[in-house]
Amino acid sequence: MNIILMGPPGAGKGTQAELIKARFPIPHISTGDIFRDAVNQGSELGQEAQKYMSSGQLVPDEITTAIVKERITQADCEQGFLLDGFPRTTAQAQALDQSLTELGKKIDLAVNIDVPTELLIERLSGRISCQECKRVYNLNFNPPREQGKCDSCGSELVQRNDDRGETVAKRLEVYSQQTRPLLQYYEAQGVLFNIEGSRGSNQVFADIQEKLESL
Ligand code: AMP
Repeated sequence: MNIILMGPPGAGKGTQAELIKARFPIPHISTGDIFRDAVNQGSELGQEAQKYMSSGQLVPDEITTAIVKERITQADCEQGFLLDGFPRTTAQAQALDQSLTELGKKIDLAVNIDVPTELLIERLSGRISCQECKRVYNLNFNPPREQGKCDSCGSELVQRNDDRGETVAKRLEVYSQQTRPLLQYYEAQGVLFNIEGSRGSNQVFADIQEKLESL
């Protein structure tokens, strides 16, 4: 089962990915997490990615597609994978299709989580996450039991640098210009599944689960 999770920043892709992963045993591949880990490690990739991430821009396609291409050929992806935050441009979607064709695979479902812009801004401004296990919280809607600590692993919760101020506006603009057009790309392939994402995460997940189980 090869799945893509799509939607604007703050739509709840990370939260849904966690729920999907707990129910369906496929690896969760988040390009955002890969880049953030590289930034934290101070690697060459991290230094390059940081130049774009800090201003809400996309990391260049060649870098991003090479990472995903390599990742989906690993053994744990044989039974499927869940891509979160990739593809984000038409060039990335085409490169992904080409790699999948070479592997004799295809995308089974592109889940698009749709949320109105005002709610996205409210969600992003309250979002904090665990640097260790990546669990996502929201100070307004879904706070941790103990302030600043992850309920799951006890590690420190932090706000992402790119969830602040102007960077949020830039990310939303980049989404509508470069990523939103991809919905048509997957609709044309007959794999697009639109979902109303302004509801609670469990309700959203119930719909996704039903769809995945019907595949
Ligand atoms: P995310 O956690 O998915 O919101 O990603 C955070 C940031 O990482 C984005 O704003 C981009 O700078 C970068 N990034 C993540 N995924 C991609 C991608 N598929 N293509 C280009 N840049 C990406």
